[in-house]
Amino acid sequence: MITDLLKDKVAVVTGGTRGIGFSIVRTYLEQGAKVILFGSRQESADSAVTKLQSENPAWEVFGMAPDLASLQSVEQTISNIIEKFNRIDILVNNAGISAREPLYDYAEEAFDQIMNLNVKALFNCSKAVAPFMRDQGGGCIINTSSMVSFFGQASGCGYPASKSAVNGLTKSLARELGKDNIRVNAVAPGVTKTDMVAALPEEMLAHVTANIPLSRAADPQEVANVFLFLASDLASYVSGSIISVDGATVN
Ligand code: NAD
Repeated sequence: MITDLLKDKVAVVTGGTRGIGFSIVRTYLEQGAKVILFGSRQESADSAVTKLQSENPAWEVFGMAPDLASLQSVEQTISNIIEKFNRIDILVNNAGISAREPLYDYAEEAFDQIMNLNVKALFNCSKAVAPFMRDQGGGCIINTSSMVSFFGQASGCGYPASKSAVNGLTKSLARELGKDNIRVNAVAPGVTKTDMVAALPEEMLAHVTANIPLSRAADPQEVANVFLFLASDLASYVSGSIISVDGATVN
């Protein structure tokens, strides 16, 4: 049993209320971190915190709901966190939405919405947190990409485009922030059993699963395990990497 990999670390996890993000939060708490999870609404953040504290009342977990598309809102929230905890060691940019509309039906607002959350929020949170990481001597940023960032998808072009941008930001920020001892990596999950996947049409899910050599979707915990590795000192020389967790999915 691995324990205390993140003892006394402070982590911020966006999209931490359910799915992959919730598993990351729980895994970080199990390994001794204090975690501030972000949700889209304060109520959903609070209810995730309540659920986790009912599992273990000793866990130090807090919920917040900044507007991730607004740099000002994110900076205010990060400065409140720094005031309370004095540091942020780990930032996980995980909040994301997907859309599957064909180009012919794709609304401009839907494209903006996906870019605002999947890409701009990552920029905003990284920009707000990086100066504190630099000043405290280092830290790490882990972004949630997707397997479709590598090969696109046949409908819903905004989602893979946003995740390819996540890869570009990951590589670029790793190069830019390495001198400040900030490691930047991404995890590219394949099909993972969360609400996002429950929303997929049956035939699309069957098609996707047929292309997975491991013959099944991932459990969110199996994805969270890689976020644990990347956040820990075991990954001290890993930066600029995009790690696939997709059961060897073939396109
Ligand atoms: P989910 O829908 O279960 O959870 C999404 C999270 O994002 C929630 O915590 C939600 O509160 C947050 N969120 C949604 N809209 C928001 C907004 N406007 N502002 C702030 N937060 C918001 O999804 P999931 O499957 O757990 O996905 C998590 C990440 O993993 C996403 O970035 C997704 O693109 C990526 N991903 C998921 C899969 C999969 O198969 N589930 C595969 C590849 C990548």
